[in-house]
Formats: sequence, structure tokens, C-alpha cells
Amino acid sequence: MQGIVIIGAGQAGASLAARLRSLGYAGSLTLIGEEDVPPYQRPPLSKKYLLGEMELERLYLRPPSFYTEQQITLKLGVRVSRIDRAASRIEMQDGTTIGYDKLALTTGARPRLLPQTIGGGLDGVYYVRNLADVDAMSPRFHGGRLLIVGGGYIGLEAAAVARQRGMQVTVIEMADRILQRVAAPQTSDYFRALHRSHGVEIREGIGLDRLEGEHHVARAILSDGSVLETDIVIAGIGVVPDTTLARDCGLALENGISVDAAGHSSDPRIFAAGDCASFPYRGKRIRLESVPNAIDMAEAVASSMLGADQDYVARPWFWSDQYDVKLQIAGLNSGYDRVVVRPGPRDGTQSVWYYGGDALLAVDAMNDPRAYMTGKRWIEAGISPAAEAIADPATDLKTLA
Ligand code: FAD
Repeated sequence: MQGIVIIGAGQAGASLAARLRSLGYAGSLTLIGEEDVPPYQRPPLSKKYLLGEMELERLYLRPPSFYTEQQITLKLGVRVSRIDRAASRIEMQDGTTIGYDKLALTTGARPRLLPQTIGGGLDGVYYVRNLADVDAMSPRFHGGRLLIVGGGYIGLEAAAVARQRGMQVTVIEMADRILQRVAAPQTSDYFRALHRSHGVEIREGIGLDRLEGEHHVARAILSDGSVLETDIVIAGIGVVPDTTLARDCGLALENGISVDAAGHSSDPRIFAAGDCASFPYRGKRIRLESVPNAIDMAEAVASSMLGADQDYVARPWFWSDQYDVKLQIAGLNSGYDRVVVRPGPRDGTQSVWYYGGDALLAVDAMNDPRAYMTGKRWIEAGISPAAEAIADPATDLKTLA
């Protein structure tokens, strides 16, 4: 018996390893990660950690002693370079190999990069994916001018932190509006107003033509021809699932590593979970980039790896923190054709409800935990109250269901 090997020591990999042990798996268990730190949470990287309000140790998902106690062999700072399916072995970059009975890929996602040809390789251009990215950027992250390319959640969270650290911040978004890919115009409007009230300049419908500077970035030329002097740049232009190993060893891919409901890839001895994996969901195939998905999917995959195939039933939710606003999202809004807005209990609080026909699909709740909790419960139970009733602030949500 060669045991179980997990490639990718992030949120999903760590959850999978812990779950295998708690389910009673007593065999050899190896967790391999390219980064040289124990598995940690990424969300604070664009929030409290970036703000300097969170210690490194608090980022760790488990204390380092956990892995020793649980007899999980944690190999850090090592990139796996190849999977040899015929020999059931993986090969590390230093040439060493490890055999496996079962293998899990939890390789996550990588940021989309700004091309070198438009100045993406200049010093002072940063991404917010790994701890090392943020540690490298931190000394430059106060005072000065910051350009954020991309008005998605990570870019907007970084903008909020930068303002709190006294930076002059411009966000450019190529699409017509910030958050266009993920939210309705009403949610974009809310966050645009929030950022503008904190002094962030938001320019929508404007892309990046190129970055210029000697070695270090000095200015950006935007798609409307305008020139913006800047000290640093953060590119928050999305991520791509890390499928390199899976592709090279011939596993089926479809917007990530394609797995069935129980988490098997096209090779029955290889599984995948988290940001790198796409899975069946309500008649479609989806891929989610969120902590709850990484944990829940990894836990379901742990059962499947031990032979008790368990279908992963995703219950999507997500959050984002910007200034003093907590956004909580339940459900998936894809395919929505109607949106209603419900004012929240206080000024500056509201919820945006997404419908596809008469079916409630998702809710974005801004500083309105009750709307979020209620909406989440309804969505998971398949309950769809009338949109008109939701939109009416006089309706008590408790009485609706
Ligand atoms: P990762 O956490 O990316 O882990 C994958 C690991 O695999 C990486 O460490 C990588 O180095 C390693 N790896 C890849 N290939 C190899 C290889 N060949 N050999 C060895 N190791 C390898 N989600 C939310 O729900 N709420 C939030 O508020 C939120 N905020 C976020 C803020 C930021 C700045 C970021 C970056 C993400 C945020 N997310 C948030 C998303 C969430 O963190 C991810 O969905 C989650 O980390 C996915 O877990 P994962 O294990 O699939 O991937």
C-alpha cells in the first residue's frame, strides 16, 4: 500500500487531509504544496492581513503541530512536476518521486497575468493570490498612488484597504461597470457609491492599454488615451484554474479538472476539489472559487476516496468585506432575468434578490445578515417567495416562508 497523496496544500488540500483522518483513514497520507508556508486562509490577504491587522500565525488553517499529530506528511516548498498514471507515481521538481494508491488534485487557481508586452513584467506590478505576493507588496502599500486594474471583489477589497492606508486609489474596469461578471447593476451601484464616498476614483468602460516605466512602473496608458501616473499597480483580472498537471497527464478538462458528482476525475484513482475542479450542479457543470466550496467539496471527496462515494451537493455562498460593509451572497445568480432590491434595517444596508422566472436564485446582502440568512435558507430549500413581497420593506421576512 502506497497511500494517498494530495497535490496542493491550500484550503481544499488541508480540508481533505484532515477529513480523511477524521473518517478513520489510517494509511500513509502526504500533502504537498509549492508554497513554503503551512496551509493558510487566503481571504484575509485582501482584507485584514493586507491592512496589517492580522498576524501571520492567525492565517494558518491549523497549527503546524496538527500535521505531525495526525501523521500527515507535509511537504512544503515543493512543486510537483509530473503525474505518471501508468506507474502510479508523481514526480517532484527535484526529481524525487512518490507512489500513490489514490491521488487528489487540489491545485487551486492562478491569477491571470498582465502580458509582458504591455508592461506586466515591470517592478511594482502586483497580484493578490499568495501570501508571498502580499508580503512583497506590503512595504509599498501606504501613501503613494495605486492603480487597480479590474473592479472585481479582490480589486475592490484591495482598494478599500489602500484607502485606509492613505493611498490615492484609482480603479479601472474594462466592462461597463464594476462587478459586472458577478453581480446585478444594483449591487455594482451600491459598491461604486461606497468607494466614491471613500475617495476612490472608479473609471468604468476603460481598459489598460499599457504600463510604462524604466524598471519600475511609473504610469499607465489607458484605453481612452489618458495617462495616469502611479507608484504601484495591482492586477485583479481574474484567475484560471491550475490544470497544468491534469492536462499533462491527459485527464479530462472542462473549465478546470472535470470531475463527476463524487469527485472522480476521468481516472477513477484521481480526484479533484476546490478552485481547480468543475463539477455537475443542477444539470450544468460549474466551477466555484470560494472557501466554502473548497471545504465542502474536499470533505465530500474524502468520503469518495475511502470508497463511500458521496455526491457533492454545492450550497454556494460567499462574502466580501469592504470598509465597514460586509457583503454576504447566497446562491448563484447565473441565468437571472429579474432583480428586486429590499432596503435593509438601517441606512446603507440593503439586499438584492435575483430571480429566474419565479424561482429565487441568489441574494446579495449588504450589512443585512437577516436577509442573507433567510435568503440562504429559502434557496437551499427551493422556496421562492414572490419578488413583490420581498421588495416591500413592510413585509416581515420571517412571516413570508
Ligand atoms: P488554493 O487555496 O489556491 O490552494 C492551492 C495550492 O496548490 C496553492 O498553494 C498552490 O501553490 C498549490 N499548488 C498548485 N500546483 C501545485 C503543484 N504542481 N505542486 C505543488 N503545489 C501546487 N473566498 C471566499 O469564499 N470568500 C472570500 O472573501 C475570499 N477572498 C479571497 C481573497 C483573496 C485575496 C484570494 C486570493 C482568494 C479569496 N477567496 C475568497 C477565494 C478562496 O481563497 C479560494 O477559493 C480558496 O483558497 C480555494 O482553495 P483551493 O485549495 O482550491 O486553492
